[in-house]
Amino acid sequence: MEFIDLKSQQKRIRQSIDKRIAAVLDHGQYIMGPEVFELESRLVEFLGCKHAIGVSSGTDSLMMALMALGVGPGDEVITVPYTWISTAEVIALLGAKTVFVDIEEDTWNINPALVAEAITDKTKAIMPVGIYGQTSDMTAINRIAAEAGGIPVIEDAAQSFGATHHGRRSGALSLVGSTSFFPSKPLGGYGDGGALFTDDDELAERLRWIRLHGQERKHYHPIIGINGRLDTMQAAVVLAKMDLFEEEIALRQAVAAGYNERLKGASLQLPFVAEGNTSVYAQYTVLTPERDALQSKLGARGVPSVPYYSVPLHLQPAFSDLNHRMGDFPVTEQIASTGISLPMSPYVTEEDLNTVASAILSV
Ligand SMILES: *Cc1c(COP(=O)(O)O)cnc(C)c1O
Repeated sequence: MEFIDLKSQQKRIRQSIDKRIAAVLDHGQYIMGPEVFELESRLVEFLGCKHAIGVSSGTDSLMMALMALGVGPGDEVITVPYTWISTAEVIALLGAKTVFVDIEEDTWNINPALVAEAITDKTKAIMPVGIYGQTSDMTAINRIAAEAGGIPVIEDAAQSFGATHHGRRSGALSLVGSTSFFPSKPLGGYGDGGALFTDDDELAERLRWIRLHGQERKHYHPIIGINGRLDTMQAAVVLAKMDLFEEEIALRQAVAAGYNERLKGASLQLPFVAEGNTSVYAQYTVLTPERDALQSKLGARGVPSVPYYSVPLHLQPAFSDLNHRMGDFPVTEQIASTGISLPMSPYVTEEDLNTVASAILSV
């Protein structure tokens, strides 16, 4: 059994992928070719937002969002310690201070009440993450940000892309949203890539400059940017995958329901989806105090599992300058020490579900 089955998907779309790649080879516009703009239009349609900007990765996209908002030394950016390192890494890269706040016990996403407490006059942005496929309480966070004078909210939707919050798509829930096309994400390519989303025309223009070395037009650079472009080849691959995406979201939700059904008798905390939310289950993650034992027993039965973020960011040596210690973010530490993710993809079979469930129930 694979942890994330990308092969079954490729079997379904191999022909359209081949055709899409051949089209790129034929026209030869490997940088900023027509597929990049075609994908951007598809994404705009999918999210119901005004602008989509294809970029080099989900990490660069977060950094470009911060750059476009002018975040730099002396500024503070609020985010969570329970996330992939990218979210906080880009804050540090720009010389700003990462202000961690703890997560909620049920959704494992940023706790809005703690965001409100952490805001200072140096807060330049808030970066909620939709961990494991469900968005944060974006309604509450947007309200808190507005009440604090309009602090920009950057939604890290790398894992929640495709999910909804009160009927609206993740990525289009705040001033700017960011996603990743890393192969194992809900909408992944065959390499690195990502996208940014906004309804703000001026911000979109700055983001487009930044992804192209700060270039407004040929030979003219009003601001500093980076090489942040999405490859034409990756755009072609993601376009082929877009055709399946809605169906795959439903399949992921069916797989999660299959796990829920089979595991409801086990002494595990199962994933919780908040009212008003749907999840794309980037991961299907359960909590158990017996985490390490469970992982090795599953491994012995050929079932892969991953304890994501088992060392949360505030305890990573890379962030030692923030002087955090064990105990600073108790909910994060609790989830980090008990969470384990089970095999998840749209193509997990009933047989796989039974194998995983019986392995868990026998422990
Ligand atoms: C994967 C991921 C990213 C970074 O995406 P890349 O495309 O790998 O750079 C950022 N944030 C979260 C929450 C992620 O899961």
